[in-house]
Amino acid sequence: MLNPRTIIMLTAAILITVLLTDMFIQVPIWIYAVTFLPAISLFAYGSVSIRSGFYVKTLCSAKTQKKEIAVSFDDGPDRNITPAVLDVLLKNNIQAVFFCIGEKVREYPDLIRRMHAEGHIVGNHSHSHHAVFDLYSCKRIRRELKQTENLIYEVIGERTKLFRPPYGVTNPAVAAAAKSLGYNVIGWSLKSKDTVIHEQKALLKRLKTRLRKGDVVLFHDRGNHLGDVLKEFIQYTLNENYRFVRIDKLLNIKAYA
Ligand SMILES: [Zn+2]
Repeated sequence: MLNPRTIIMLTAAILITVLLTDMFIQVPIWIYAVTFLPAISLFAYGSVSIRSGFYVKTLCSAKTQKKEIAVSFDDGPDRNITPAVLDVLLKNNIQAVFFCIGEKVREYPDLIRRMHAEGHIVGNHSHSHHAVFDLYSCKRIRRELKQTENLIYEVIGERTKLFRPPYGVTNPAVAAAAKSLGYNVIGWSLKSKDTVIHEQKALLKRLKTRLRKGDVVLFHDRGNHLGDVLKEFIQYTLNENYRFVRIDKLLNIKAYA
């Protein structure tokens, strides 16, 4: 399987071959450049594709023949959007996972309490969700994860073990920090793109056409773009005889320590 170590070894092997060849016939300089291209591309792809599991094992969907899916919400809690999302979920008796930002947990502990009371999982989505979070050192990332974990613990008395990296970006530092704290790294298999697509009809169409058994669906409880999409998506999914399952049950993992 392709992982950083295999790729470094393969690149080293190709480089040695090129160097040895160069001793007998002159190898053009561009051949050296090409030697590193696949490795650079794969390292970059591994960073931005959470589903690749390149740097760390990520759980993005369930292998199942059952019509079951889980829903997840990132970047909250938000004073306006989160209560509306919780209302819709409650009305449909659906339990979701909320990957929360530590700074907002501190600001809206009541919403975290409500999530927990209504049977949802509270996951860790870093403390700052800073634009360059993935460039932080392992120590700093670890500190952020621990900070958020402690904040959630203070409110609900549970130590979350689910972490979704901000922007879905993984790298050796993010991987090492998550592993050292015993986190399950959670991705997604169906991205709603609700922060990018602002037209509700287009958003809904995207979700309907891509929905598969075992999906983990990614939404955001921030911004005003979700609107009635969640309601309509739930209605469509139930009409198609899917069942909403909480993420820990769908993936067969423990959400809390
Ligand atoms: Zn996020």
